[in-house]
Amino acid sequence: MSKPAYKRVLLKLSGEALMGDDAYGINRSTIERMVADVAEVAKLGVELAIVIGGGNIFRGVAPGAQGMDRATADYMGMLATVMNALALADAMRHVGITARVMSAIGIEQVVEPYVRPKALQYLEEGKVVVFAAGTGNPFFTTDTAAALRGAEMSAEIVLKATKVDGVYTADPKKDPNATLYHKISFDEAIASNLQVMDATAFALCRDQKLPIKVFSITKPGALMRVIMGEDEGTLVHV
Ligand code: UDP
Repeated sequence: MSKPAYKRVLLKLSGEALMGDDAYGINRSTIERMVADVAEVAKLGVELAIVIGGGNIFRGVAPGAQGMDRATADYMGMLATVMNALALADAMRHVGITARVMSAIGIEQVVEPYVRPKALQYLEEGKVVVFAAGTGNPFFTTDTAAALRGAEMSAEIVLKATKVDGVYTADPKKDPNATLYHKISFDEAIASNLQVMDATAFALCRDQKLPIKVFSITKPGALMRVIMGEDEGTLVHV
């Protein structure tokens, strides 16, 4: 069997990816299927750091948060990511994968705080590290947390798992002629005004020369194909 294309990756899972077809929350069979994909990759010896979103539970700018102080709503969003991280780590435990959750905001009774050398040590030990609470700061997103932790962990690539299978020339739901980019540079993505990640996350990845792969987590085997360096999703390169 061929070798994985990467030794260490940062996987960004949106909260919505945990919902399955439900309207909100965590769908049991969806999380189990996702964790099975992650376990397959971890068992190959690829070091996996995961940033989990929280949009399935709470989004700071959601209608439910209207009228709320933005920073307060964002802290609620960050706490939602902690719940998802706990669920994810627990689901990994069920399939024999050791995961450690590290939070960017201090809630020591629940999960350990993010400490960079400790996170690096866990990765070297073959544990999956799940980064919770985003960047720990309001006005940011978990996409930015993914870029940040990806750079801090010296990951070779940020894998942005979404519900669509990559970056298209136009919205495929609106334009039947939209085609998928297999590869695109940061500069081309900016020139074509393509939304890959939010602007802060995208700028950080570009500055750090950290490539991004956008792919569908709902597509069977897609994560493994990405890890093996196969033509799957869209690669945003330097
Ligand atoms: N959030 C934040 N700072 C961060 C990361 C997240 O304030 O560094 C808040 C923000 O309110 C956001 C919510 O947490 O709407 C959930 O994160 P995100 O929307 O990135 O989750 P995803 O869309 O990936 O599920």
